[in-house]
Amino acid sequence: TACLYQAEKLKKLNIFVRLTKEVAEHQAKESDVRYTNGNVRSLLDGIPVAVKDNYCTRNIETTCSSRMLESFKPPYNATVVQKLQDAGAVLLGKCNMDEFAMGSGTVDSIHGPTKNIWQSGEKYTLLRNVGERATSVEQVQGCNSTHGSKMVYQELHHLSSHSNKEGSSSPSEEGDWFIAGGSSGGSAVAVASGAVFAALGSDTGGSTRNPAAYCGVVGLKPSYGLLSRHGLIPLVNSMDVPGILTRTVDDAATLLNILAGHDLLDSTTVQDSFIPLDLSQDIDISRIRIGIPKEYNCPGMSDEVMETWSGVADILERAGAEVVQVSMPHTPSSIACYSVLNQCEVASNMARYDGIEFGLRTAENRSTEELYASTRSQGFNETVRGRILAGNYFLLQRNYPHYFLQALKVRRLIAQDFTHAWSSGIDVLLTPTTLTDAPRYSQFISRDNREQCASQDYCTQPANMAGNN
Ligand code: GLN
Repeated sequence: TACLYQAEKLKKLNIFVRLTKEVAEHQAKESDVRYTNGNVRSLLDGIPVAVKDNYCTRNIETTCSSRMLESFKPPYNATVVQKLQDAGAVLLGKCNMDEFAMGSGTVDSIHGPTKNIWQSGEKYTLLRNVGERATSVEQVQGCNSTHGSKMVYQELHHLSSHSNKEGSSSPSEEGDWFIAGGSSGGSAVAVASGAVFAALGSDTGGSTRNPAAYCGVVGLKPSYGLLSRHGLIPLVNSMDVPGILTRTVDDAATLLNILAGHDLLDSTTVQDSFIPLDLSQDIDISRIRIGIPKEYNCPGMSDEVMETWSGVADILERAGAEVVQVSMPHTPSSIACYSVLNQCEVASNMARYDGIEFGLRTAENRSTEELYASTRSQGFNETVRGRILAGNYFLLQRNYPHYFLQALKVRRLIAQDFTHAWSSGIDVLLTPTTLTDAPRYSQFISRDNREQCASQDYCTQPANMAGNN
């Protein structure tokens, strides 16, 4: 109830495309019964979560923030959505995003842009009343689990430490505000504002990590194939992964453990059985080798990000880790390579939206061609149409070897940069996520979409192309 109240109160931020109030109330009631009967399903039982609007949710509109799918109600749940439901989570709503997840700001949506909760120049009271769950805390402990309670206690702690922030946001220009990042901006603000405890985003080139960084929450891009993509409406099949947004690393691990695993409905999920993460294990930090890839230090990176990056490296070194510089020489080619591969896969993926099978169908139906053309030109925004055109150009028979095949080769080199780093004994790579903190809306929309991605995704895209996290 408190989360729903918070979500409704923060309407101005445009976090949710749709609140699933009735579903949430029903699921919360069922969860309460399970708590009373002592058959709690998991650490997530009764915990409010949200899902980006590119995950299919049975009988609930799934729009991808596009006119094309404005009234699309999928007949099934995405595997990860079903897993959340089976774990007892309460679905509070579907979150705003850039159309078809193309973008880095959550500014290109038919539902309008999402605003960052921090620094928005307005005063917001963060959610404090989680009293209802306090009963559950004891019940979770009663069934021998301390983690669920940790989630709630951390929440209380977080809220009390952040409630001081009320009114402390920096002033912003009249009518301007800071973007949430994207394309999973709605999911990130849902978590940051306390409307939910966890949310699903998706990540093709940074779309989970980027808004997490701008909103100050944890964003996890799992390795490709660890979580099922079944029911996640595709952007780039060879790079898409479901992303996890939470307020603490512990909570991200809890979600990962619940969501990971082989899925017969997604042939790209890895078949090996998944060994759950156990963060309670002690780590001997002196045995960890941390690599700082020098090519990630790129033009456009703000002083603040640079200082934080080296500050974190210093902390890890002082704690006993070995910090070394490594070279990942193909990083600077990543933006160009990503642009070609992304647009080629987009061109082929978007072919399914033809006005015949599902989604928008315009009235111009004198011929099938005319119906296709008018549906697609009215259904997609400029960014989507631009990528379809570019992708089809790269895939023309005469261009294919020069663009698509070349990009595949560069992709292999980028992936090799990672394998070389791991085989040289590096355990962890430490890099920034974005080059700056959240830009202002006016500043952000003055750049075109390609330029936005080039500057925002420099540090995040290579991991998608390599397939790892
Ligand atoms: N900004 C990138 C793009 O627009 C990444 C998007 C994503 O990860 N979904 O393609």
